[in-house]
Amino acid sequence: MDSSDKWEIIHIPEKPALSPDHQPTVKVYASLIKPKFANTIVRHLCKIAPLEDLRHVKRVKKKILPDRGETQLTVILCLAPERHDHLNDSIPPDVQKLVDPYELSPFITEVCKYAAVSKEEWEEQSKIWPTSFHPPTYNIDGIGGFSEEDTQSICKFMRVVIDMAVSGHKPLVNAAVIVDPSVRRIIASETDQVYASSGDNTSTETSPYKETGDICLNDTLEKQNGSLSAVACLNLWNWSLQPHDTENCSLWHPLRHASMVAIESSSARDRHLFPNSSEIFGQDHVQPSNMDSPAKKQKTSSQGPDVQIDSGEETLRNPSMERPYLCTGYDIFLLLEPCTMCAMALVHQRIKRIFYAFPNPTAGGLGSVHRLQGEKSLNHHYAVFRVLLPDDALRQLATV
Ligand SMILES: [Zn+2]
Repeated sequence: MDSSDKWEIIHIPEKPALSPDHQPTVKVYASLIKPKFANTIVRHLCKIAPLEDLRHVKRVKKKILPDRGETQLTVILCLAPERHDHLNDSIPPDVQKLVDPYELSPFITEVCKYAAVSKEEWEEQSKIWPTSFHPPTYNIDGIGGFSEEDTQSICKFMRVVIDMAVSGHKPLVNAAVIVDPSVRRIIASETDQVYASSGDNTSTETSPYKETGDICLNDTLEKQNGSLSAVACLNLWNWSLQPHDTENCSLWHPLRHASMVAIESSSARDRHLFPNSSEIFGQDHVQPSNMDSPAKKQKTSSQGPDVQIDSGEETLRNPSMERPYLCTGYDIFLLLEPCTMCAMALVHQRIKRIFYAFPNPTAGGLGSVHRLQGEKSLNHHYAVFRVLLPDDALRQLATV
């Protein structure tokens, strides 16, 4: 990666970026049709051969023949097998029945398998067969670019993450900062709590970065062999290598990855601020675990005067304020891409945007291994961004 003194924020889309002219395709049967039959045929086909997974593909292709000024219509009849020996053998009987009455002559052609995610992709796709293009329907700030003010705010919270990831931790751990972007305040900030004592973790596991040779990784971290061995989302099983510590076992847990602890802390804050709304969510009254603990105070005071921590005092003064539903509308900032468990927890929490600095080649849930932001079966989708750090931030990480 080129060194730079600039911050750069990159949107990680819901499907892998493909070169516009290398779109995966699927085979379909198509046929020229007479315009007078078009409505009837399309109505029939929508019933007997709906193209459920190809909603972005237009059923009818229209072409004006330049010499005669006539309109030529071609319709997609149905999916075709990827391999075929005899052209018309695999046309379903229902579709086959339309061939004679409507004078069809089926042939096999290709259409793009996935909906275009950019105008450039869409233009290339339409050269093969027309598709429709809908820019992302979710209205999330930043997908179309960030304002200078937003960029500064994002950098500021990423600096908090870096400070937390390096401070007092040897080796490095992951840090998570949940922010309410509407008021630019920190709701919760936590680090991995997977080890009894992060200072004693002397695991010599090789960093997964070395093994994968991911070109996105910066040399600074790569040279620190093993320096990432304590990052929970990256090394899902390293916790099992630590000596069993019965005295301190309440301070750590294999699943206490930074995002999970931050979510817990955010929930504790909610319960503290809205003690009477527990019936709504079916939760018990539980005292916040560490809202006022000395450790928490120490952590918040080390974050500099320009970062505001939401203590919730305003909310306490204004009892009419409604309890937010989990983390709806909030952003989370992380040093490393979360693992699938953490990424799924952030779906459940209704997080709006995720920002991370480094990909997670072993277990990443947001593009490296899985891509939850593009998982259609989920009922919530966040926007994901990678933040490329400037040199001084990288140097700070390298000092660990
Ligand atoms: Zn994780």
